[in-house]
Amino acid sequence: MTAPRLEIDLDKIHDNASLLVRRLADRGVSVTGVTKAILGSPEIAKMFLRAGVSGIGDSRIENMELIRRADIPASMTLVRSPMLSDLRRVVTLADASLNTEKDVIQGLSRAGREMQRAHGVVLMVELGDLREGIMPADIEDAVGETLRLPNISFKGIGANLACRSGVAPDAQKMSQLSSLADSIETTFGITIELVTGGNSANLQWALSGANVERINDLRLGESILLGCEPLHRKPIDGLHTDAFSLTAEVIESKSKPSLPWGDFAQSAFGDRPPTVDRGRVQQSILAIGRQDADPDGLQPPPGVEILAASSDHLILESRARGVAVGDEMTFQLNYSALVRAMTSPFVAKFLNVGGVAVRS
Ligand SMILES: *Cc1c(COP(=O)(O)O)cnc(C)c1O
Repeated sequence: MTAPRLEIDLDKIHDNASLLVRRLADRGVSVTGVTKAILGSPEIAKMFLRAGVSGIGDSRIENMELIRRADIPASMTLVRSPMLSDLRRVVTLADASLNTEKDVIQGLSRAGREMQRAHGVVLMVELGDLREGIMPADIEDAVGETLRLPNISFKGIGANLACRSGVAPDAQKMSQLSSLADSIETTFGITIELVTGGNSANLQWALSGANVERINDLRLGESILLGCEPLHRKPIDGLHTDAFSLTAEVIESKSKPSLPWGDFAQSAFGDRPPTVDRGRVQQSILAIGRQDADPDGLQPPPGVEILAASSDHLILESRARGVAVGDEMTFQLNYSALVRAMTSPFVAKFLNVGGVAVRS
């Protein structure tokens, strides 16, 4: 079979999505299924929808285009603030977007008027992680300006935590977002439809039995795909953590000294050379590298250790077993490795449905 290849088990993704949708529905929280890590794969988007997600979220308009072209009838939200240079495409392809900038929202309104369409705006609030968001003190002004604009429908507010600084979306942060929703409703005499609390990092809070107050939506990608919560990278009870696997082929396997020799300068990626002499070791090279996956995010099979990686060589030591040229080796991936493998044109993608693998 082609190597390297990423094998994707659609049934496991469906199981994961449907369990999270059900557990959160019990708490009055809907799931926006985020497809950016799988490059907007229409097949996976369909699985998300079949599992009961309320809509699709993606950060890339190109991915939305792919989903629209596959005629998937889903409400779609751009989960990154639109580029000013891209507003017509955003209004054409996305039903709504997450926003933080007045100029962008005004531009969306103009594009909407030209194209005779309405666009939904969710205003993001900065709660301390210091990625996107309007400072809480400025949110009411932003709501007022948004409500005045033609061809814009104000959908609600949201927050995103953990991604940049690792600030946890805990009860206190979510309570602050809920209070902002309440005070916006009082000030403007409106009902806020959507309060989207965050990403997969919010699951620990959401599934802990805490009062979710006004939070009625989470935007989930990683947890559905990898079965893990990103705050502590722990598996979530009942979810599959092996829906994805990456297989690569051995192109060299030899007994070699564990220490390099010669005069030392810099390596290609700034890695330090090994300094402990462990005698000769069984070293293998796989035809996959940093262009195809994040080596730090690959979990090798038992008895195998990743020693180093360059652009297109992954260097391993195998203790437990003999490894021959032509053998294949399969790895589990974390989010970083998954995103890179999905994005590499050199990695073939196979979708497994009901035990049948189809190249996509
Ligand atoms: C990527 C992203 C998500 C989904 O994050 P996961 O950790 O994959 O669940 C949600 N919201 C925003 C704004 C994002 O950028």
